[in-house]
Amino acid sequence: MCSPPRKKYGLTTTIIFSLSMIFVASSLNAQYIRFTKAYGKRYVYLSDVARYYGMRLRVGKKKCEMSSRYSQLSFTFNRRSGFINGVKVNFMNAPFFSRGRPFVSEHDFLLLIDPILRKGALHRHKLTTVMIDPGHGKQDTGAVGARYKEKNIALLIAKALKTRLKALGFKVVMTRSADKFPSLKDRTNSAEKLKPDIFISIHCNSAKSKAAHGIETYCMTPAGEASSSERTSQASKLRGNNHDKENARFAYEIQKNLIRATKANDRGMKFARFFVLKNINCPGVLVETGFLSNNAEEARLGYRSYRAKIVNGLVNGILAYKKATR
Ligand SMILES: [Zn+2]
Repeated sequence: MCSPPRKKYGLTTTIIFSLSMIFVASSLNAQYIRFTKAYGKRYVYLSDVARYYGMRLRVGKKKCEMSSRYSQLSFTFNRRSGFINGVKVNFMNAPFFSRGRPFVSEHDFLLLIDPILRKGALHRHKLTTVMIDPGHGKQDTGAVGARYKEKNIALLIAKALKTRLKALGFKVVMTRSADKFPSLKDRTNSAEKLKPDIFISIHCNSAKSKAAHGIETYCMTPAGEASSSERTSQASKLRGNNHDKENARFAYEIQKNLIRATKANDRGMKFARFFVLKNINCPGVLVETGFLSNNAEEARLGYRSYRAKIVNGLVNGILAYKKATR
């Protein structure tokens, strides 16, 4: 369980659901965010969260929205997917509605919403060295489409990204620059040795359904939570959890800018315990740039001009993250 940033969000009290308590407590100062326990986890009052940010909260039967001039968040009760500023996000726990009040989990507030809405939630750090990890390689082809292999598309995108980042003054290190196969352990070892400031792993997707298409960006699942594709939580805190807040902001900026640049289907920012994300000691993301199992998307990924759009999205995402952590 993470410890709440005392100075920033003040007193928390466990309260029992009751109308009188809610009425009394609602007159508390805006910086106080109350929580309650449900489903074995801590959930905060979304009305308190909205007040904390000075945002308006509109509550409907199935959804609620929190908005200000700068930001807009949309929650659907009992569903994990929602939107932050138009970008699809996957909450660690489904928000819910009880006795006239909407709730979000404390981890979703502290480790997902707050790092995206508020720069002050993030650790400032230098961002000069970027490690790019083109997925798979050599005998490990990754996903195989009708025409292309994931290992090759990932390398083409990684190389183009390297060129752009170097031109912008970044130092770039690669886990592979040719059709080689560094093991997953080799990749995290080189991240340990070269000490990059951020890590970005590039992949292509594949699914049984040929209709599946679009882009998704993953970051490490916080300790005690379930990954986006799972229901069961894992308690252990791993090295990749040293930067939970930065990971979330980085994944959000990458996903947002990728969708903006490519106009691809937004499959959202998600959480997963992928090996490379579990073991890195800097903020990191894994990007699924599109489905090789979808004919149209595979064709697009084969065009240099489309890959250039992906690279634009990645560069803009890195620059936005750099600005947020400066
Ligand atoms: Zn892959």
